[in-house]
Amino acid sequence: MKKALRVTLVGAAGRMGQAIIAVANSESAEIISKLDQGDEIRSAGADVLVDFSQPDVANAVSEAGLKSNTPLVIGTTGHSVEQRKTIESASKKLPIVLASNFSVGVNALFWLTEEAARILGDSFDLEIVEMHHRLKKDAPSGTARTLAEILQRQRKTTQLRHGREGMVGERDPFEIGIHAVRGGDIVGDHTVILAGSGERLELTHRAASRETFARGALRAAHWVKGKKPGLYDMRDVLGLK
Ligand code: NAD
Repeated sequence: MKKALRVTLVGAAGRMGQAIIAVANSESAEIISKLDQGDEIRSAGADVLVDFSQPDVANAVSEAGLKSNTPLVIGTTGHSVEQRKTIESASKKLPIVLASNFSVGVNALFWLTEEAARILGDSFDLEIVEMHHRLKKDAPSGTARTLAEILQRQRKTTQLRHGREGMVGERDPFEIGIHAVRGGDIVGDHTVILAGSGERLELTHRAASRETFARGALRAAHWVKGKKPGLYDMRDVLGLK
């Protein structure tokens, strides 16, 4: 039988932390340390440190990884530019998987979005709509940000429009709209709309449970162990690059 991967989990009491604990056994992982708010973040003795907490934990998580040379899997979203830089600089010495979404379906959506934007070209207007539960703290979601980055690369624009209100005038063809809906217990829906004249393409992914993210994160944890230092994402893990 495969030896269980020893995992330190940060954010263990949260929704994602609990989902990871629930599937750990079936993903050949042993959660050797369950850390949450108030705990000192240390990863000694673990094969991988997995973080699903909040963005301001990026520093402590990176330091803990560097101190004990433990690879990281970071699922937390909403990092500031500075927090992201901290992770990038740690990745010069450690292998780190940083992914806004660990589901296979969403990673297929990333690929399809890139292809659709490429095929349809500049005459199609691009908008992203995401929906999440009422307790989500960051907006737009990390996944919507990744979708926006993909569209920005294709359209060669940096112009993002976060919602609209009032006399905003005609739509700028170079803007990419992002809209965040919050309510109830929605686990996570993402739609990319490519709207042209006389036709519209919509690509939608709906997550029905957190299990898919939890299994994906542990798959990434198995993958990252023993890799060379660097910043990886879920497409590396899935072999989609
Ligand atoms: P949550 O609020 O339910 O859980 C976060 C947990 O982190 C809480 O238990 C909180 O006490 C803990 N925490 C806060 N500060 C801490 C600290 N300093 N040290 C240790 N623990 C601390 O949130 P959630 O729904 O589990 O989501 C957590 C993060 O994961 C969010 O950023 C969310 O957007 C992200 N997320 C990512 C994916 C993905 O696939 N990458 C999927 C779902 C959620």
